Amino acid sequence: MHFLNKMKEIRLHDKTFIPYIRKAEIARAITKLTQEIAAYAGDETIVFVVVLKGSFVFSADLAKQYNQKAVFEFYRLKSYHGTQSSGEVQILVDIDADLIKDKKVIVLEDIVDTGNTLEKIIDELQKKEPADLKIATLFYKPEAYTKSYPVDFVGMEIPNKFIVGYGLDYDELGRNLPEIYRLKDNKMIDFILFGPPGAGKGTQAQILKDKLGLTYIATGDLFRHHIKNKTPLGQKAKSYIDKGDLVPDEITIDMIKEIISDPNIKGLIFDGFPRTVKQAEFLDRLMAEKDLIIDALIALDVPEERLIKRLLERGKTSGRSDDNEQTIKHRLDQYHNLTEPVKEYYKKQNKYHEVNGVGNIDEVNQRLLDVINSIKLRS
Ligand code: AMP
Repeated sequence: MHFLNKMKEIRLHDKTFIPYIRKAEIARAITKLTQEIAAYAGDETIVFVVVLKGSFVFSADLAKQYNQKAVFEFYRLKSYHGTQSSGEVQILVDIDADLIKDKKVIVLEDIVDTGNTLEKIIDELQKKEPADLKIATLFYKPEAYTKSYPVDFVGMEIPNKFIVGYGLDYDELGRNLPEIYRLKDNKMIDFILFGPPGAGKGTQAQILKDKLGLTYIATGDLFRHHIKNKTPLGQKAKSYIDKGDLVPDEITIDMIKEIISDPNIKGLIFDGFPRTVKQAEFLDRLMAEKDLIIDALIALDVPEERLIKRLLERGKTSGRSDDNEQTIKHRLDQYHNLTEPVKEYYKKQNKYHEVNGVGNIDEVNQRLLDVINSIKLRS
């Protein structure tokens, strides 16, 4: 997989795509898939349900290699993505129930992403009472899949990137490309600057934002802005913040949704978000909807005694609720109980990085830049 340097970029509508998976690799995946299906089918006739439009190229290639008893039926769905409704799926071409009833059915998907389309297909086909229903897909994005229904036959697992070609489209263009291209992202990096209250996230994020030309999203600042302007959101958030509690996830998530809906933002630094595992899961889904991905979580490590000292100092001047030791201790407890588990969430995705947050501002900033550069080089 990955880059084929000599091949050219292509342009579809307003976006640029670069070569990603070559023909030979696709062919290998299809051969593997075909063999697995053949072994499962034995002497039985399989009803292949080709999911249009995306699967037409893949199914044709699979059909040419599959030399056991097979029937092909076609199912056409349309799914709507976007900000307001994630995952509404409509059937445009249906299959008669008697073609499915008591048959061994295998759905042929080009790609299984969130699983929203797949779920609808499974629900609808189950109503037609097949003897057995299995799912085969050429590409599978495990990072994006949100359902529990098993995907039985997988040609190739891919990361959560937007791809076109070999039947897959970007707004209907690109289906006829013989290989897979992926969206070329000119953005630098999207990452979370993480750490307990007082670790220096805000200070460092401001500097990184200017140096790297990124968009900076600090939920704490956003809440303070809302409170100052007495907005309904500010009024909802204030009592929690004053006590040193976290603002409930629903309120925070709605606020983030609105900010990230700006199509022009590129390269994001998150500060103070996600603060719970639920927020982290939400962020992954939201980014995926926009064909973006969190590249890293970078945690600033500062010992607790130092944090308390810094927070007491800051409380005197910043207008935050950091002015007494009791609230500060409560905020730190909240951090350990609710926020620290977010580290594990990103460790599991191999995206966790830690930086020593003790030192002067420039020293710590250089450590952060070193980590960011190492991430850039890898992706
Ligand atoms: P900060 O400026 O990041 O220290 O945030 C100040 C306060 O805002 C926190 O103590 C919370 O009450 C609230 N807050 C900020 N970000 C979040 C978040 N992601 N989830 C819940 N509450 C938050």
